[in-house]
Amino acid sequence: MSPFIAIIFIAVAVLFILGIKLMGSPKTARYGNLLAAFGMLIALAATVPLLGSWETSQLLHGWSLNYILMVVGIVIGLIIGAIGAYSVKMTAMPQMVALFNGVGGGAAALVASLEFIKEASTHYEVAHETSAFITGSMLFATLIGSLSFSGSLIAFSKLQGYLEKPHTFPGQNVLNGLVLAVILGLCVYLTGWATTNSTAFIVMFSLALVFGVAMVMPIGGADMPVVISLLNSFTGLAVAADGFTINNISMIVAGTLVGSSGTLLTLLMCKAMNRPVTNVLFGAFGSGGGGGKAGASDLAGKTVKPIQADEAALLLGNAQQVVIVPGYGMAVAQAQHQVRELSDELGKRGVEVRFAIHPVAGRMPGHMNVLLAEANVPYDQLCEMEAINPTMDRVDVCLVIGANDVVNPAAREDKSSPIYGMPIIEADRAKTVIVMKRSMAAGFAGIENLLFYKDNTRMLFGDAKASLQTLIAQLKAS
Ligand code: NDP
Repeated sequence: MSPFIAIIFIAVAVLFILGIKLMGSPKTARYGNLLAAFGMLIALAATVPLLGSWETSQLLHGWSLNYILMVVGIVIGLIIGAIGAYSVKMTAMPQMVALFNGVGGGAAALVASLEFIKEASTHYEVAHETSAFITGSMLFATLIGSLSFSGSLIAFSKLQGYLEKPHTFPGQNVLNGLVLAVILGLCVYLTGWATTNSTAFIVMFSLALVFGVAMVMPIGGADMPVVISLLNSFTGLAVAADGFTINNISMIVAGTLVGSSGTLLTLLMCKAMNRPVTNVLFGAFGSGGGGGKAGASDLAGKTVKPIQADEAALLLGNAQQVVIVPGYGMAVAQAQHQVRELSDELGKRGVEVRFAIHPVAGRMPGHMNVLLAEANVPYDQLCEMEAINPTMDRVDVCLVIGANDVVNPAAREDKSSPIYGMPIIEADRAKTVIVMKRSMAAGFAGIENLLFYKDNTRMLFGDAKASLQTLIAQLKAS
């Protein structure tokens, strides 16, 4: 590779890093995305001269590049990607990410497999030696990329509601462990002893696909964002390994960035739920076994106090400080525009309105930010959990819209609760709490919410969108 191309690849790496940095804030995320995409465009353009030299070396062994096929592939990919991105609903974004991640992993696995099969036949014909490191990189990319492909497709099906429940059976983890051991054994065999054995390679490839399915099937649908983040980091590592295989620096850099950021995001999400990664992967959370009625004994004899929309409107209209806590129910009801309207209406009356955003509210990282941004809620009204909790005692009304687990004081008060220790938005410390939901049904964790039974809590039952519309009408009429 010429020094000029190497410098371009380093510049591309800088663009990727700056892009990720800008994605750290909703204000600059759009530019960050564009900057990283621009970096990818340059990386693609810089790869074209490399293809020429690659072809010259490969011609010796009878390999040549089909440029027309490559252009056709790029155009088809661009069209499908653009149509998908423009037409996908905001609520279906996690499925879209799962699919994109899956095809990325599959592509990385295919690149590495073709390189392996090509090297195997070249080795056979001209006694050409491939270093153990490169063979190891090819096998690693094939293994990780293909399990990310099949695992992401299962994650997509779960998010789409086709296979939502965890699918478990006795001895499942042992069986999965055995399959993994066979795959790793085959990788060692192929690296050390059988670099030309295409049959063993195909068996390893197929088992890796099976393992991706087996790994994701026992995990509950609502844990899929964590799984996708983990599989995303796998895809990144597979791409980085491909970079070593075909000597492409920008693939190594981009893959490593995706691999490390995916791993960090996975760990952050687990921390925000106070659950170890092993509990997400092997705990079958959401199958009914993880939940229970924690805190139920403390609730004996306690009842909830309903409230009507007109009284709730009066409380909100007369408040000085209101905090809105959105959750998964707001996404289900698609009530973000009504939330914005309510906030504007209160703002006109001089009420200070802030939004408390829990890192795992909803069903994907940033779920609430995305929905509220779609409804043009100003960024400066959004507050992170750590910033808003110390101010909760001064809040007149905390309006909880379709959030449940992320405001459950059991996380603080009930040591036997499965969510004990999870950081929550301390809505219960506000002077009055109004909870909007349809029934007394539990949230994702499947447990009773102690907040609903607190003396300062009132329940406004009904679909969040319909209730908000009534609230806004009552406020306007008053
Ligand atoms: P929850 O899942 O705890 O609760 C959502 C609530 O919304 C339900 O209690 C439901 O009650 C209510 N609801 C549903 N539809 C409507 C509607 N149309 N109108 C009004 N209310 C509605 O959501 P949270 O956001 O509080 O918590 C997220 C959970 O998901 C956490 O346990 C988190 O750990 C988990 N999770 C989040 C991930 C992420 O990346 N964000 C990833 C993995 C897991 P009802 O049926 O009575 O209306």
